[in-house]
Amino acid sequence: MQTVEVDTDSAWATIFDAVGFGLILIDAQGRVLRWNGWLTRHTGVTAQAACGQSLAEAFGAPLPASFMSALNNALRYKLPVVLSNVLHRGPLPLYVELPASTEADRMPHAITLTPLPVAPWGPCCLIQITDSSRSVSREKVLRRHSDRLNREVMTDSLTRAFSRGFFDQFYQQEFARARRQGSKLALIMVDVDYFKAYNDEYGHPAGDKILVALVQTLKTALMRSTDKLARYGGEEFAVILPDCAKHNAMLIAEHLRSAVQELKLPHRKSGNADQITVSLGVSSTKPGDTCEAADLLDTADQALYAAKRHGRNCVQYLEPSAHLRLP
Ligand code: GH3
Ligand code: MG
Ligand code: MG
Repeated sequence: MQTVEVDTDSAWATIFDAVGFGLILIDAQGRVLRWNGWLTRHTGVTAQAACGQSLAEAFGAPLPASFMSALNNALRYKLPVVLSNVLHRGPLPLYVELPASTEADRMPHAITLTPLPVAPWGPCCLIQITDSSRSVSREKVLRRHSDRLNREVMTDSLTRAFSRGFFDQFYQQEFARARRQGSKLALIMVDVDYFKAYNDEYGHPAGDKILVALVQTLKTALMRSTDKLARYGGEEFAVILPDCAKHNAMLIAEHLRSAVQELKLPHRKSGNADQITVSLGVSSTKPGDTCEAADLLDTADQALYAAKRHGRNCVQYLEPSAHLRLP
């Protein structure tokens, strides 16, 4: 049988150059002993030029202090270190394609430092570099998907007002913030008058169009970007007004009511006008020991019923404590 003489050193060099990731071997003084073909492809620096140099000289640029300190620690304490691309967005000047023209061509990468205390060359450290551009772009796609899903969940699909889910979360958040900061918080509940009769007369699709038009109008009428309009359910909407006391909340509610009235959307079967109108219930509080988020919501809802009892197309206010004192 024929035996093949293998030059072990050149066999290892072939393997070193063939792997699909970066490999650098440095000695205890931080000088480059080996530099593989992958690095040449992504830096433009040959092994011949890099060997014998410090890492910064080999890369032709100063390297970030965080990377150098991780490397020194790995060498000093002989402990492996992993620098993930999440915490260290590619400390080395590596490029996906060469010649690179912009910073955008820079390759995101992860690094593993493996100290080799006993090696034929004396104590040294193996630096392994992997390209994370794929996982970074996958992450971006996933983040975009998740942002879009969040936006969908937060938005009512018919009217594009905020959803009930968003309201529940944002309202609790704003109530807690007002309590922390000792500020006022107001709530307006808006309900379309005689809407069942509208659907019966004009049909459900026409009713849907009314809801869309109302949301557009209410959104436009709300002037502070901090005020949030949500579809609370069916033909009922809720407006959260942070940093807003009774007087301003009443002015805003009245402004919303008249904005809807000015639309003059015909409604032959309305019991109080020949057009679409809304009733509004307002409540406000400085969240404290006596008023919880559910109390303010309940009070605004009671105020809405009061507006219905007062003949609709009007605004009514109730103080949480006054409402809570009711039998
Ligand atoms: P009120 O003045 O007392 O509020 O009377 P109303 O008829 O508006 O109230 P009611 O609660 O009796 O009816 C609400 C109607 O709202 C019934 C329901 O079909 C309609 N509605 C709820 N959601 C939608 C929707 O998404 N589209 C349409 N077209 N109608 C809806
Ligand atoms: Mg109604
Ligand atoms: Mg209703």
